[in-house]
Amino acid sequence: MARLTQADLADLNTTFEERTPQELIEWGISVFGQRMAALSAMQESGTVICHMLHSLDVKINVLFVDTGVSFQETLDTRDRVIKEYGLNVVTLMPEKTMDEQTREFGILYLTPEGQKECCHMRKTIPMLNAKGQYDAMIGSLRRSEGGKRSQCPILAVDPQMNCIRINPLVNLNDEQLAKYINVNNVIVNPLHAQGYPTIGCNRCTTPVMPNEPRRAGRWRHLGPWSVYCGINPTDLASDTATACEFSQDLIDRILGRETDFVI
Ligand code: SF4
Repeated sequence: MARLTQADLADLNTTFEERTPQELIEWGISVFGQRMAALSAMQESGTVICHMLHSLDVKINVLFVDTGVSFQETLDTRDRVIKEYGLNVVTLMPEKTMDEQTREFGILYLTPEGQKECCHMRKTIPMLNAKGQYDAMIGSLRRSEGGKRSQCPILAVDPQMNCIRINPLVNLNDEQLAKYINVNNVIVNPLHAQGYPTIGCNRCTTPVMPNEPRRAGRWRHLGPWSVYCGINPTDLASDTATACEFSQDLIDRILGRETDFVI
C-alpha cells in the first residue's frame, strides 16, 4: 500500500476548479467505478447530487445516515429519492436506539462534550461500519455555505474512512443551486420551506430567523454556531499531511500518472 496525502491532490484540485459537477462525478466513476458511493443527508444539495446521479445514469450506492432521530420529512425525502430516481439508498443506523442510549448515558446532546459523543455514536460509527467498501465518496458541501466550508476542496482525503471525498458542488452558490432545483424539478426536503436552511436530527435542529446565520438552527442550545457533527472531515481539519492508504495503481489512476517506483 502507498500513501496519498492532501498535498498530493493540490494540482488536481486546481485543475478541477474548471469542471462542472457532472464532469466531476463522471471523473469519479471512471476512476473508482462501484468503489465510489455518494453520501446524502437528504438536504437540498444532497438531493441535487441524487438527481445528478439519476440523470447521468450513474448506478452507485447512496449512503444515508439515519440517526434514529431523523425528521419524518427527511425519511420521506429519502423514500421519494429511491422511488423517483431509482437509486439504491443504503440507510446506515446506530446500534442503539435513542431511548437505549439515553437510558445508558443520559441525554448526551445537551452538553458540548455529550454532543460529540452522541454524534460519534449515531453518525460517525454507522459510517465507519461501511469503511473498506468504498475508495471514494461523493458529498454535497458548498463553499457558499460559509464557515469552515468556505475553503472546502473539491477532492479531500478522509483518513478515517480511508477514502477520497469528492465535493462536486463546491462552486455552486445559492442562486445556482436554486436554479438547478427549479429547472430540474428536484425533490426537496419540505423542511427547507419551513425555515430550516440546514437539517440534522430532530433533537438538535430548529428553524432559523431571516436575520440569523444559516447554521444558527444547528445545535442552537450549544452556543455560537460553530458546531459540526464530524461526518465530513473537512469541517474539522484541513491538514495537508493527512493521508489515505491505497494501492499504487489506484493512486496513479487518481492522479492520472504512471509511477515506476515508490518512495
Ligand atoms: S445531531 Fe444531536 S441527536 Fe443527532 S447525533 Fe448529533 S448530538 Fe445526537
